[in-house]
Amino acid sequence: MRIYEDTYQHKGLRKQLIETLKGKGITSQEVLNAINSIPRHYFLDSAFDKIAYEDRAFPIGEGQTISQPYTVAFQTQLLEVKRNEKVLEIGSGSLYQTTVLLELGAKVYTIERQKNLFEKHKHYYFKNKYLNIKFFYGDGFEGLPTYGPFDKILITAAAPFIPPKLIDQLRIGGMMVLPVDEGEQQRMLRITKLSDGSLQEESFHNFSFVPMLTGKN
Ligand code: SAH
Repeated sequence: MRIYEDTYQHKGLRKQLIETLKGKGITSQEVLNAINSIPRHYFLDSAFDKIAYEDRAFPIGEGQTISQPYTVAFQTQLLEVKRNEKVLEIGSGSLYQTTVLLELGAKVYTIERQKNLFEKHKHYYFKNKYLNIKFFYGDGFEGLPTYGPFDKILITAAAPFIPPKLIDQLRIGGMMVLPVDEGEQQRMLRITKLSDGSLQEESFHNFSFVPMLTGKN
């Protein structure tokens, strides 16, 4: 049985990470507070305990990764999450990004296509702390039509294009943040659905994600 402990050393390293994120341009105090309050090392194999607060992605099994803290902070900041908003997340992975959304007060619907990762979610460490979470095993390209529309949608894998079914599941005034393929790297986009149903697109800098794949595994 693994023992989970959030020591002074972990908290100190987390404070340093917050400074790093500020230095890289993260300004949302809510997002920084959320990251500061979540023990990222709980989402990683204990072998990563000492390096869990480096601003890097790490393997989480099945060829997948926990996103880099800067990426999590940047995407979350762009999403402008408000308390009680319904957020659809594609790519649950380690549930670290999910936990940041929950800490901000969102009601999170999260989809994972890798069965082995999804099975691990039964043991989510914070399942008694955050009750506004629903886990789904499925293909994120399909979204969750019966649960929509969503206030916000977040994709945490490299999308080959903007998934049309997800646009359908976004409410008017809602926003979707996603990295879209541009070869080796992906361009971070924020799509806002305007009152006439048209889309406003904002483009940010490049990131590197694992691919968003179709079907289940
Ligand atoms: N947010 C996660 C990032 C995990 S990496 C974290 O912070 O840990 C991206 C995840 O997206 C992987 O777990 C991968 O299996 C998943 N994924 C890729 N394509 C998907 C799809 N079509 N539907 C749902 N999940 C998908």
